[in-house]
Amino acid sequence: MRLTKIVATLGPSSSSPAVLRALVEAGLDVARLNFSHGDATSHGLLAARVRTAARRAGKQVALLQDLQGPRIRLGALPASLCAADGSLALERGEAIWIGPRATAATARAPRTLPTTFPALARDVRRGERLLLRDGRVELSIEAVRDGVIRCVVARGGEVRSHSGINAPDSRLRVPALSAKDRRDLATGAALAVDAVALSFVRNAADVEGARRELRRLGSRALVIAKIERREALDELDALLHAADGVMVARGDLGVELGPEAVPLLQKEILKQALRRHSFAITATQLLESMIENATPTRAEVSDVANAILDGTDAVMLSGETANGRYPVEAVAAMDRVARHVEGRVRIDVPAEAPPATPPHDFSFALAGAAVALADHSGARALLPFTSSGRTAAIVATYRPEQPILAVTPDPAVARRLAFWRGVHARVLPVPRNLERLFASGVRAAEAAGQLAAGDVAVLVGGHALTPGSSNTLQVVRVGAAARRR
Ligand code: PEP
Repeated sequence: MRLTKIVATLGPSSSSPAVLRALVEAGLDVARLNFSHGDATSHGLLAARVRTAARRAGKQVALLQDLQGPRIRLGALPASLCAADGSLALERGEAIWIGPRATAATARAPRTLPTTFPALARDVRRGERLLLRDGRVELSIEAVRDGVIRCVVARGGEVRSHSGINAPDSRLRVPALSAKDRRDLATGAALAVDAVALSFVRNAADVEGARRELRRLGSRALVIAKIERREALDELDALLHAADGVMVARGDLGVELGPEAVPLLQKEILKQALRRHSFAITATQLLESMIENATPTRAEVSDVANAILDGTDAVMLSGETANGRYPVEAVAAMDRVARHVEGRVRIDVPAEAPPATPPHDFSFALAGAAVALADHSGARALLPFTSSGRTAAIVATYRPEQPILAVTPDPAVARRLAFWRGVHARVLPVPRNLERLFASGVRAAEAAGQLAAGDVAVLVGGHALTPGSSNTLQVVRVGAAARRR
């Protein structure tokens, strides 16, 4: 069983039932719905197809809603400024204006590009940079006057209507959730998505605001903070505390802080996530060349392997599965790399104390002991029995070498556990008696071929099977337990 989880973004290349089925069979754990594109109808159709493919394959596949967030863009460029194909070439050294409205031909601002964030001029200063189209074009701000920003092009290139704008040096006072995000959250809640990723998050208050909105909508979705701004890095510890998981969003992180900063930031974010017992997804360009090619480059294979060695829970595909020519091959390639690496190298867990927990909550001590017991007893698997998923999630953050065959009575919990490294969840009814509960989990794992007679398994649970009630560890040899019954 593979331990590292695979997240794949859905799009035109992966929206048909046949491709979705093939993706699930190739190892997809989480399907990402990118709400920067599509509408409620298209996302609803994809969600239904993913659920059908997962049910047919007998797999837990989670749905991840990725919100667009307060992304700033250029508005519609005036046709008078653009070439016939809609592009506008900006030459190094030339002057350009950014303002609330396109004013192509006034004397003061002959080339004003409109923006979707009319208050941009309020939040930027002379000397700061604006990056257009994923950083391909760099503007240096020369002056700000009357709501219009005068820039000089520091790195030239083409832009188009709706190209993204990053302001890496500025503190933008944008609302954490746009009006579109709020509408999309309601759509996601109606689709019962399992997790929501927040783009351009700045601090814990942003996460808490989104969580409040989700609760208001009746959603129990996990909240994932995408780490893609300097402000989020400054607040990383608080974000890890407030969110259920983080995403190393290397695309915008590379634009905001420079691509050369990304490798060390990735290592640091993943280390801090492990220390905080949070899950982490490493995203963007892991197998980029597979958008066009059926096989990955050696550098890409190394990138996937290094994310796993850095301790990531999941690796994510974006364009590779959304618009690429080889979506299924990309998932299969990640699956191969993960299996190869996991079989050979153990992930080191930072030797730091777990965060403070209520005195009656033994979850961390129990999970750490379960993983040590699994090692010392040569166990084939760990079986946490969990109502909220928390015990299984904490066991995962001790990075056992063995798969974590979680048992829960709640199908939504089983799906949410798809984000954590090594967790393969199963939904089973819960007998009141702990011994019967443990026996039913082992029997189900045996029936699925995950455990065989003679294997050792480590069981973690509690009589009540309510959050925080785990207090029991048991080590069993499969078969011997059955004989005793
Ligand atoms: C990223 O920037 O790496 C990312 C995952 O965000 P998005 O693809 O939504 O821009």
